Amino acid sequence: MDQPVIALKIDVDTYIGTRDGVPRLLEILERFGIRATFYFSMGPDNSGKAIRRIFTRKGFLKKQLRNKAPSAYGLRTMLYGTLLPAPMIAASFPGILKETERKGHEVGIHCWDHVKWHDFLPWLPKPITALELGRAFSLFEEILGRRAKTTAAPGWTVSADSLEIQDALRLSHCSDARGYAPFYPVMGGKRFRTLQIPTTWPTADEILGENGITADTINDHYLTLLTPGLNVHTIHAEMEGRGLASCFTDLLERLLARGVRFVTLAEAAQQFGHDAGNSPLAMGELPGRAGEVAIQGHA
Ligand SMILES: [Zn+2]
Repeated sequence: MDQPVIALKIDVDTYIGTRDGVPRLLEILERFGIRATFYFSMGPDNSGKAIRRIFTRKGFLKKQLRNKAPSAYGLRTMLYGTLLPAPMIAASFPGILKETERKGHEVGIHCWDHVKWHDFLPWLPKPITALELGRAFSLFEEILGRRAKTTAAPGWTVSADSLEIQDALRLSHCSDARGYAPFYPVMGGKRFRTLQIPTTWPTADEILGENGITADTINDHYLTLLTPGLNVHTIHAEMEGRGLASCFTDLLERLLARGVRFVTLAEAAQQFGHDAGNSPLAMGELPGRAGEVAIQGHA
């Protein structure tokens, strides 16, 4: 009963991550009989525009250099939306979304335009935010033939507006925050009714290069974080599905050897969501990450 449980949350941010990272992850997960939750970016890949964060976000350039971002994401990805046109992601690979669902994974929506949401959410008028999600939802339904039931905000960026729009979409659960346990968010004096399943572990890009952690030792670090009950680990198709694929495979082997049970976020919501209370949710800083993320506070 104290068995550790892990929900793997897989963010798919880019065209390349969808094309190359997702099939690789599907193959790795199938090998171990693990089902996970994939959140797809549905619209244009404007990754090149993220370059402007060098000028607007303290720590962004340092993080990109530490992660060797150009080699992790590929040079073309770094130019999409600037020198190269932004390719449409889900519309280019509808078969990959279908295949992910067919293999038994949970499929949800990350966003329409990752860079726009991540960089501009606080300044977007509410109808524009609703339109961003609306476009993603309609393409999702066109491809998978059903309505999406879950979303995960790009870069863990939320606002009271985005939470209100989520409530209106009547989703079963979302994963927009960093925190410690499932909760109902309270933001801007309002309590929202969509269950949040927060990410409890740091991402690879946050801890690689910090405190001497390398790809060879990162899994030792992750094993120290494993707790009884629900753990939520966010990985990226662009990283764990590409350059970090063998490292991620090793992590799964070691977690299974420890008796970890893997669930989707929908299953986590069912199994761990019943006693969720209200928690304040606010944007704040996390070690190793440039800019702010939504963090679950203590009630
Ligand atoms: Zn993302």
